[in-house]
Parts: sequence; C-alpha cells; structure tokens
Amino acid sequence: MRALRLFPYRPRRYQDEVIEVIFKSIRTRNVCLHAPTGFGKTPVILAALLPYIDDGYRIIWSVRTGNETDRPIEELKVFAEKKRLKVFGFSIRGKRDMCLLAREYGENFDYSDVSYLCSRMRKKCPYYNKLRRGIDPYPIVDMGPLVYSEVFEVASSLGVCPYFLQFYLLEYADVVSLSYNYVVDERFEWSIRRIISFPLSILVVDEAHNLQRLELGSDTITLGTLARALKELEDYKADDVKELVERVQDLCIKIRDKLKKEEDTEFNPLDFISQEDIFTLKKAQQIGEDIRRKRLNEGKQPRSSLYHFSNFWLSALDLLDVKGIAFIAERENENLSLNIWDMRSSEVLSKRWPLFYRCVFCSGTLKPIKAFAEIIGLSNYVSIGVPNIFRRENIRSYIIRDLTTRGEILEENMARDYVKTIILFLNKIRVNTAIFTASYRIQNSLKERGLIDNIRSIGFEVFEERRNLRGQEARRILDTFKKKAVRKPSVLIAPMGGRFAEGADFPGKLLEAIFLVGIPFEKPSVKVKLYLEYYEELYGKDKGRFYGYIVPALRKACQAIGRALRSPEDKAVFVLGDYRYEKYKDLLPSFVKEYSNVILADEIVNIELPWSR
Ligand code: SF4
Repeated sequence: MRALRLFPYRPRRYQDEVIEVIFKSIRTRNVCLHAPTGFGKTPVILAALLPYIDDGYRIIWSVRTGNETDRPIEELKVFAEKKRLKVFGFSIRGKRDMCLLAREYGENFDYSDVSYLCSRMRKKCPYYNKLRRGIDPYPIVDMGPLVYSEVFEVASSLGVCPYFLQFYLLEYADVVSLSYNYVVDERFEWSIRRIISFPLSILVVDEAHNLQRLELGSDTITLGTLARALKELEDYKADDVKELVERVQDLCIKIRDKLKKEEDTEFNPLDFISQEDIFTLKKAQQIGEDIRRKRLNEGKQPRSSLYHFSNFWLSALDLLDVKGIAFIAERENENLSLNIWDMRSSEVLSKRWPLFYRCVFCSGTLKPIKAFAEIIGLSNYVSIGVPNIFRRENIRSYIIRDLTTRGEILEENMARDYVKTIILFLNKIRVNTAIFTASYRIQNSLKERGLIDNIRSIGFEVFEERRNLRGQEARRILDTFKKKAVRKPSVLIAPMGGRFAEGADFPGKLLEAIFLVGIPFEKPSVKVKLYLEYYEELYGKDKGRFYGYIVPALRKACQAIGRALRSPEDKAVFVLGDYRYEKYKDLLPSFVKEYSNVILADEIVNIELPWSR
C-alpha cells in the first residue's frame, strides 16, 4: 500500500495497522485516534494522508497554539528527504511573529498591537507593497517544507512582508500547519478559506482534547482595566464616558468587597450597562481607537484599556441570553475580574467539521472517544485506540490507598502524610521527578508543611511553577530545570493542567518519575456549578457530570503522566497519590491500568524500580 511505503521509519508496534486504518477510513469517515505519547502519531497520520495529495486534496494540520506549528512540518521534512517526496508545506504564524515593520519599533508588541499597527500602516508598508508588486513563488516552493523561521528568513531576504507571503504561498501548499483559530473561529477562517478549499482539504486536529475548552467568545476585564481607562480619559473631554467607567468601577468594588478571596459569583451585565449606554460605549470605543492611533504614531504599543472596556461591554450585550455563555465575577486578592465565559463547544464546533472533506482528531488523552465526539459535535467517525506500547519491565505504577485530596481543604494530617510519602519516594528513587499537584491550593498546603525544604535537605534541586507565572519566566524555569537535571537529581513541582504538566517535553532521563498529589477536580465554585448545569442540560444528569467534571480532571492527570514517557523505550515510575484513581482506572493510560499495584503510603520504601543503578 502506498501509504505504508511512504512511512520514512522502520515501523514500530501498531504503526502499520494504524496507517492502514486511517488511510482506508478517510474515504468514508472522520477518524478519532487515541494513541499514547511516544507512539509517533504525527508521522503515522502524515503517511496515511499524504497519498491523498495526488488526488487533489490538501492537508490542514491544526495545533492548539502558534508555537506548536513547526512540529508537523519538521516531520514532513523527514518524509521529503528520506522518501525523496516532492511536497511543499509550511507553518503559518500570526503577525506577532511575522511582522517586519513591528520589529523596527523595538517594543514587545502583542497580537492585538501588531494587528492594529498593520491595519493602520499596511498601505504605506514597504514590505507589503513590494510583495504586491509580485514575486516568483517557484524558487520558494522548490525549497520543500519550511518551518516559520525559514519563511521569515526568505521574506526578509526578499524584502517582502513575511506574514502576507504566507498567504501568497498558500495556493501552492500541499500541507499547511496552523493554529486552531484558523479553522474553528469564523473571525479568522476567511483568511485561509478564500485561498484553500475546505471541501478539498483533510483537517487534522492535533491534541484534540483541548477542543472542549476553546472558550472562543471569552473575554476578561479587571479593576486594573477600569483604572487605566480612567487615566486615559484625563486627556479627553468626555464626561459621559467617564461617568460610565466610574459607575462600573463602583459596582465592581462593591462586588469585590462582598466576595472572599478567590470566591466567584455570577453577574448580570444589565446591572452595569443598559441598552441606553450603547451610544456612550461606541463613543468610548472611538476615543480608545484615537488613543491607539496616537500611541502608534509615537512609536509605542497601540493599546487602550478604554477600547478594551467598550468592546467587552458591547460583546456582553450581544451575548445576553445566549445559552452556553456565563458572566462571572472573580476576586483575586484586591482585584476583581469580570469574565464573559463561553462554555459552548459542541454547538459551535459541530458546524465546522462538515466544512472539510474529512477530519482526523488525535491525542494521547482522547478517551473515552464517544464522550469526546459528543462534546465536539462529531458524527460519522471511526475510533482508533492504540493499545499499550510500553513494556511491563520498563514501567512501575502504584496507587496509594491511604492518601487523598478529597474535600474542600487538605487536612493538616493528610498534607503531612503527602510530604512524608514524597520524601520517602524521592529517597528511594533518586532520579529526576515531577510532583504534579491537583491545584495551586494543594501545592501551597504541601509547601506550608515544608515540602520544598524537605526535598532540598535530601539533596535535590527544586523548581516550581507558581501561580500567574509569565510565559518568559516559565520558559526560564523549565530551561534551568532541564540543564540542572543533567547533573543533579531535580524535582519539578507544578499543578496538573498547568504549563509544565501539559505540553512541556522531557526526553530521556530528564524525567523518570512522577508523583501525582490528588486528582485535579475543579474546586466547587459558581463557575463550575454553571458549567455542570450547562452540561447536564445538554447531555442529562449523569453524562453531564461525567463529561463536564470527571473526564476533564482525569485528562489533566493523563497529560501529567505522559510527561515521563516520550518513546516506547523510556523507563519510568508513577505514583498516583489518591485512592480514587483506582475507581477511575478506565480513564487512565493503558499502562497504568494494566501495571498498577495498590499499596499503602508506608510501603513506598519497598517499591520495585525499572532500573538497577
Ligand atoms: S504588511 Fe506585513 S510587515 Fe507590513 S505592517 Fe502588516 S504585517 Fe507588518
């Protein structure tokens, strides 16, 4: 079969079979592929789909964030090189990464800043105008698959806009890798759809479990936004706008003072803004627009809190009474945030999939596939569940029978027992370990019981993911962990569902043990209550709770477990520190389900290890 012949590696267990099933199924049905980390999903799917290019189809590979777009293209390069495949593809990035003009400003522009800059300057932009005069695409197409930095380099050397060059090249692409937004969000899809025919494209949705929480129409303003909006208004004569912002601010302060720290409540936008305020909101929007223009002319980031304020309330008024939209006020320390929260996934997404010839959804945490398909509104699909690919001798997995984070607060004794068990465990294994906690709240309880000092006292380096960590600082912590972990046993402490427990890569011996502290169920809050009510209304009481509460928590745990296994040869030890994991074994990776032993916390000193060092 052509698809099997295209595969550029020596096939490992189950890879041939999966390539064949995807290749055949795609003619009639969509595909949901659940495969463990380390299986090699990307090359397997590419091998199955690339033959369809000869029939006139294209492959649109979508990933959660722009940062992940290069991976399928790197893989495509291997196909092109090893199989001498004439194929052109590239990864698409947004203006923030691809605007040459923004780099001349030297400021750290975010997405909306660069969008604004481009909307104001495009007509005069020398890079844009040079591209419009035309270029010869074939020398670029002949280069084969290109990651985003290569597209950027080519554009820079030609003196044309890298962002718009991508759309120019789209016409010639067999494979294109981009973020979900371009295929699931109607506000962005037109930029792709006007060039690529969706009915003649096969869409791949990578790490598709993320679709449940896309929150497409969500937005947030805080007391900080209001204070900055008032500051901006000092230069304008607009008493009606100022009064409106002050009125919202007063109400926010009243709500904040009634809430305890980290408590939330539902709010009605009409208590803040009425339909009669629309005129004032539009005026605020215009002033915000003026502020952005002036800032841009001064070479600054074109931001305006007043602009954000007016957009937030105009959207809120638009979304009133829409099923699946909730309005939540949340207190954090002395701040209050107002959130428009979009819980809809099946309703919004079900309309997207029929636009494409077929779709392939893949993830290491797609199970139960029936629940996943129902949540994203998918019908006519074939399920592929790849069995366990890890050998028993390489994996040790233990569920601790007498530990749990169950309940609203972690009792002092239980926190102490966790710390004691973790220290006994680390002393026994002495390898790089991640301690993934059910939440920051649980993490802090363990810290208050001396977790970090105790770990250091037995000779480990400690790294921690703290709340509200900025992207750059998080990357720095992760890089330092990876450097240190090569020389000295190190421990990473982070919450499940956070940056380090999902998406971060720890190849080889960088991570050989994982200790899960509890199950990351959402803490009972108004937000969670509304989410469950919405799901129960959609799917019925039992299923609603299962889909909206249990499955998402266990998915986070599975993602965390997956950090230690990047290839079938990896060896690792897992400790699932909560007796409730036994009940949910069917929702855990197959190697945990098949190889787990249930033990008492004290017995951790006697566990077997998959290595003899
Ligand atoms: S046309 Fe391109 S280089 Fe010019 S401002 Fe827009 S994104 Fe930037």
